[in-house]
Amino acid sequence: MQPEKPDRPETSDFLRDIIDGDLRQGRATSLVVRFPPEPNGYLHIGHAKSITLNYGIARDYGGACNLRFDDTNPETEDLEYVQAIKRDLNWLGFDWEGREYYASDYFGQLYDWAVLLIRKGLAYVDDLREDAIRAFRGTVTEPGRESPYRDRSVQENLDLFARMRAGEFADGERVLRARIDMTHPNMKMRDPLMYRIRHQSHYRQGDAWCIYPFYDWAHGQSDAIEGVTHSICTLEFAVNRPLYDWYLDALEITPRPHQYEFARMNLGYSVTSKRKLLQLVSQGHVQGWDDPRMPTLAGIRRRGVPPAAVRNLCELVGTTRVDGISDPDVLDHCIRKELNFSAPRVMCVLDPLKVTLINYEGTESLDAPYWPRDVPREGTRAVPFSGSLLIERSDFEEHPQKGFRRLSPGAHVRLRHAYIIRCDEVVRDRSGNVAELRCTFFPGTKSGTAASGPKARGTIHWVDANSSIAAEVRLYDRLFLEEAPGDDYIDALNTASCTVYRRARIEPSISGDAGHVRYQFTRLGYFWRDPTDSRPDAPVFCRITALRDSWAKTAEKRRGRPTGKRMAAAPGRAAQAKRRRRPAPGPASPDSEAAIQAVPGADAFLAEAKLYGDKDLVSTWMIQQLVPALGGKDLGEAPITPKQLAEITGLVQIGTLSTHQARRVLRRVLAEGGTVGEAARQAARESVLDPDTLGIMIDDVVARYPDKAAAYRNGKSGLLNFFVGQIMKGTSGKAAPELTRKLLRARLES
Ligand code: ATP
Ligand code: MG
Repeated sequence: MQPEKPDRPETSDFLRDIIDGDLRQGRATSLVVRFPPEPNGYLHIGHAKSITLNYGIARDYGGACNLRFDDTNPETEDLEYVQAIKRDLNWLGFDWEGREYYASDYFGQLYDWAVLLIRKGLAYVDDLREDAIRAFRGTVTEPGRESPYRDRSVQENLDLFARMRAGEFADGERVLRARIDMTHPNMKMRDPLMYRIRHQSHYRQGDAWCIYPFYDWAHGQSDAIEGVTHSICTLEFAVNRPLYDWYLDALEITPRPHQYEFARMNLGYSVTSKRKLLQLVSQGHVQGWDDPRMPTLAGIRRRGVPPAAVRNLCELVGTTRVDGISDPDVLDHCIRKELNFSAPRVMCVLDPLKVTLINYEGTESLDAPYWPRDVPREGTRAVPFSGSLLIERSDFEEHPQKGFRRLSPGAHVRLRHAYIIRCDEVVRDRSGNVAELRCTFFPGTKSGTAASGPKARGTIHWVDANSSIAAEVRLYDRLFLEEAPGDDYIDALNTASCTVYRRARIEPSISGDAGHVRYQFTRLGYFWRDPTDSRPDAPVFCRITALRDSWAKTAEKRRGRPTGKRMAAAPGRAAQAKRRRRPAPGPASPDSEAAIQAVPGADAFLAEAKLYGDKDLVSTWMIQQLVPALGGKDLGEAPITPKQLAEITGLVQIGTLSTHQARRVLRRVLAEGGTVGEAARQAARESVLDPDTLGIMIDDVVARYPDKAAAYRNGKSGLLNFFVGQIMKGTSGKAAPELTRKLLRARLES
């Protein structure tokens, strides 16, 4: 079938340009691509890029995309992985329409082709052992040497290869190699291995074979067998391309596939190597392949991320030939974009504090909308209200800093969808902790009615103490503290990547749902029931993502609000650090105290550091950042002084550095010495924003101020400066002003 020049979406990239050219000039008359996973692990977010690219191209050009399992290695492959890969592919929204193939089904054909190469004098059986073969191969700068077995006769080679196949030799005793050129500048061309002996059952072929083809011998020929026209793969295979072409030439196969490479998609603060993911699972650093913190598609699915968000991320990241690391905030952004219009709003309290309304009697049922005003959807739920309520512990501050917009003694706040209350009395338990707030409610202030009464300084969420549902709520943070965890990725694990609230309470409206609804918990983020750990009588909710972009949080900090009114009660690192910074500090958590005890030199380091900075913040940074970076060394010998660490945390506190930048500053000081100031200036210079990230921020700012955007469109062009200002604040001035204006204008006028 000749695909017509497609009428496709604006998606365009260099691969599509190539395909357009091939079809136009008749180099290809149909389009067949494939997604070729090896079933030796679960699919991860990087695979999603390859999947959306290949299936997207097939869809856009009316072509086909095969699902081919490249299963040539009996040692690591398993049916479990085949099934998981198919499940994940389906979840992501793609259908291989019965085109499910296995490289292992081609073992017979590959064997015959190997015999053909032997007959042509282009392959030989080598008796050298593995280490000798390696030594003979040479290096990038030195040519290799020929094996003494290289000039065996065709007859002898045919005989030996048949006996390899028949099982006469032990593992590793002989291999079959292509006879190319031991001095070739491309090491892949120095008589590459084609077959090895391995007396092992294959999960699919059983004991039919005791010789197995190497991936490089199987891959290109499998594509050819399937009639693949464009073999799309990641950049690391560019060096293999000449070899794939050599095999196809030698076998005189036509028509033949052509290979094109693109850059892998890497997500920051994550790893996408199957080997590393396997280690995380097998060593118990996570709960399994589908742990909601894992970058596997199984983990992402269990976390509640809508598949469309993953597809959008892959689109947004684009297809290039330049390696880079994508910001995980972009994925969060895609998730929010999906859920904003589909996740009904309900209320949940993570860490309850009892509120008694002293002048309220009886109960009532409030009619509360599921959607905020800017979402054009309808629907309400009944929210029970009584004189006995629960609010978020962090929404009360006995000695508030200036600008605190929530509850404190004598202050008025609005209970969302309900009334304004005033805190009259703080009741303590025997250990002196705040146990209950006694408050007055103002009957004339009910939401949705013409308010009469005192003015509230902010709005907080709440639930009714009696009718609310007990639940466990899990908040997740990045799995790694490093943007690009290297070989020591285990050390870069974020030990605080999961925070569990066991005593959370949720409004009762959620009890009637079918169990897989994604909600927005007011002020806390997007959540759904963990599909594995939830029980009907004991729901477990996990947070899909928090509400606000981290860059927006930075913006908030710079505006000098200690804790913004819309800030989630416990949205991760930043807020945890903030909570620790409260003026009336509670006891440090037992966990962090134990951690400090366990590290040599930590006590003394902290004692000095707190002379220069906030003790709790410094101790958090010491435990979570510095100690892992030192790999167990005594803190007394660290190449950074306590004062310097305190300086870094101070710059975070006043908003000069983002957490991300601060980590880079810390790393630089550790690696190169020098002052914190120098390193901070360097970090600021390095983080000029790329247009993609900037575009996302612009989308968000425009979405946050719909009124101003509308006014701009109605002719108030001066408002452009307002938006520029928001972006500048949000990025700590790192956006290029010209570009910002240009992108903003385009966005506002679109
Ligand atoms: P390993 O990490 O074990 O080398 P892999 O990630 O290459 O494995 P495969 O099962 O061989 O895993 O991958 C299947 C396909 O997905 C390949 O075509 C590969 O190029 C592509 N792919 C893998 N990782 C990424 C990534 N991060 N970005 C884009 N494509 C990827
Ligand atoms: Mg691979």
